[in-house]
Amino acid sequence: MNKHFKKLICASLAALAGVGSAAQANEQVLNLYSARHYATDEALYSDFTKQTGITIKRLELGDEALLERLRNEGARSPADVILLVDAARLATAQQEGMFQPVKSKVLAERIPTQYTGDQGLWYAFSARSRVIVYNKATVDPKLAQNYEDLAKPALKGKVCTRTGSHPYMLSLMSSLIGHLGEQGATEWAKGMVANMARSPKGGDTDQIRAVASGECGVALTNSYYFVRLMNSSKPEDKEVIEKVGFVWPNQASYGAHMNVSGGGVAANAPNKANAVKFLEYLASDSAQQYFANGNNEWPTAKGVKTNNAALQSLGDFKADVTPAKTLAANTALSQKIMDRTNYK
Ligand code: FE
Repeated sequence: MNKHFKKLICASLAALAGVGSAAQANEQVLNLYSARHYATDEALYSDFTKQTGITIKRLELGDEALLERLRNEGARSPADVILLVDAARLATAQQEGMFQPVKSKVLAERIPTQYTGDQGLWYAFSARSRVIVYNKATVDPKLAQNYEDLAKPALKGKVCTRTGSHPYMLSLMSSLIGHLGEQGATEWAKGMVANMARSPKGGDTDQIRAVASGECGVALTNSYYFVRLMNSSKPEDKEVIEKVGFVWPNQASYGAHMNVSGGGVAANAPNKANAVKFLEYLASDSAQQYFANGNNEWPTAKGVKTNNAALQSLGDFKADVTPAKTLAANTALSQKIMDRTNYK
């Protein structure tokens, strides 16, 4: 655990320690359990407090630690809103009964059905794409235009990804189950395993760096990791971006896989009305920009266009319209396929 992370946890625990007494004093509060923590989130939260008078008490942890915490707290959890990253993790929380359904006219109008969980159990407030990157010196991009291409013999020994059981890979697999069928998705996983340049390891940024170094020829990464390197002023990051090409996958077919970050009202939320207000706030124009830009993602609310210059510079692209709830529903089968094909 790094120092910064430790500090965050301590600060968050300290904030939550005041939960009981604040509620007794009739102060309007919202207990937010969030797996997101970005610099721009500060303005996001303070604007909500300004608008509503509701104080936000935050617990910020990584996704897995947050889920573990909620499991341990059970029905006594003070959580009002739970924010998580990736449809596969929203699926886990949903399956474990951590959310309650929310009916809200504002959310129904603002958040498209593609980005709404089953029965309003959760809503996605930002979207990212899973894209292909390649080494400009060693790989002809014509060979890496589609997810399917990465599993073809032409890229043997050149493919790198993170582990098959990571939520980002599971969600991509979930979308491929929809497009190729279970059999097709299984064949894809087999082809990927056969093409690996190395055993799956590391995060998405590590894949991009390994492509730049030449250890890998092609890799998959969430779009915001690439944009983060694009925006970096560090010479070593600039060097990486110079060596690596970027492909929007499947532009001639179903479009680039889209995943989400979002959340819902906790199953036993002590401050449910405030929780719904907060979700509605996240769907507002200004909050959408803050929330999405915190991690170089796209806003999900209808009619809100990104104002992020780096994202705009990547140009328009065809996005897969598979509903996030379908990705969530396929997660268990995705894991089975990864296991069956020995996708480590
Ligand atoms: Fe990530």
